[in-house]
Amino acid sequence: MSDNFFTAGLEDVDPLVFKATKNEVSRQTNGLELIASENFVSEAVLQAMGSVFTNKYAEGYPGKRYYGGCEFADEVEQLAIDRARELFGAEHANVQPHSGSQANTAVYIAALEHGNKILGMDLSHGGHLTHGHPLNFSGINFEVASYGVSRETEQIDYDELQKKVEAERPAMIVCGASAYPRIIDFERIGEIARSVGAMVMADIAHIAGMVAVGLHPTPVPHCEYVTTTTHKTLRGPRGGLILCKEEFAKNVDRSVFPGVQGGPLVHIIAAKAVAFGEALREEFRSYQAQILSNAKALADELTAGGLRLVSGGTDNHLILVDVFMDGKGITGKKAEKALEEVNITVNKNTIPFDTNKPFVASGIRVGTPALTTRGMKEDDMRKIGSLISKIVHEPDSEDVRGEVRREVKELTGRFPMYPARQPTFGSEAISAG
Ligand SMILES: *Cc1c(COP(=O)(O)O)cnc(C)c1O
Repeated sequence: MSDNFFTAGLEDVDPLVFKATKNEVSRQTNGLELIASENFVSEAVLQAMGSVFTNKYAEGYPGKRYYGGCEFADEVEQLAIDRARELFGAEHANVQPHSGSQANTAVYIAALEHGNKILGMDLSHGGHLTHGHPLNFSGINFEVASYGVSRETEQIDYDELQKKVEAERPAMIVCGASAYPRIIDFERIGEIARSVGAMVMADIAHIAGMVAVGLHPTPVPHCEYVTTTTHKTLRGPRGGLILCKEEFAKNVDRSVFPGVQGGPLVHIIAAKAVAFGEALREEFRSYQAQILSNAKALADELTAGGLRLVSGGTDNHLILVDVFMDGKGITGKKAEKALEEVNITVNKNTIPFDTNKPFVASGIRVGTPALTTRGMKEDDMRKIGSLISKIVHEPDSEDVRGEVRREVKELTGRFPMYPARQPTFGSEAISAG
């Protein structure tokens, strides 16, 4: 390895990856990011992720490692653990899961026997693949039953859930969702579980930021296990986290390592520590409150624009929009594509009792965490709501597209991001649109 090669920057060593990276900065900056599971991390979190901790093997846990030279890895992991416990009021935290899916897998292995029954929310009603989908680890290794939302309210009916639990007698109830716009009553689910001697795993991947600041009821006192991603509303690096009571700590730690993972990603754990530190600051509470207020403003404008919202509105950071409206509108697939053409990024999503196939879908899911990070407020959301309705009502009009593209450019131009990472003048980076 020549000195030159080892010390040169990305631009010189790998122009192709460098260019793709710059173009991605540009894409993120020039578009309206409304994917509900995405966010923009701080420069500090990015720096921790890009640190030399990526070089370190640290199998084991702070103070109990299988490798030498772990004193600083111990330091950052202990910071992440302490901050996660403080943030969520949890007895124990494991910060090593590489992703939300890995966190869930580790809990299943810690708590269940192969073939036990889990009761999870139906994927097409807002649940997640890891809550029992037949092609996922969870569906392959466990018996699965599912619950959904009621046809009338499109919300979880807890009396129905109680009946289902009594009929199915699962070893574990899995709650939490990827596309559910309403408050989840974890306390009630805990009571339902205890009435049949079942355990509960609450997967708060989407709502963790709100839970951390008390703007969504916490599952921590009511559920044996709580899992989350760290990169959605929590605004940290891509990764997972498990919280549990002290009595389950040993089992959980053992099932993360050596159960389902090898060496932890110490650079990501360092970034988790930074993100949890940010989340403990007062500003993070205002940020979460603004996410909610923005989602309400967006929901109101979409409704005013003639679109139907699943369950009639939102209590959290996301909105499920029925763009198909029994054939009067367009499919989710078409809406996603048409919006992408004008630099508005959303994802198609099934709605409860969808008559279209999952890959076509009747809905789109929109969320406010990312744009709220950029500093956008209620007025901006109302503007965006009107742009979305325009596109959904006239997806093929070039005039409408042109007008919306101009509005998106004006809006994103007022909220700059990552100044140190922008493509420099004269580079070949695309300017989206
Ligand atoms: C996003 C999500 C996950 C999985 O997270 P990954 O990091 O993508 O594995 C798990 N559960 C729910 C409810 C989610 O929304």
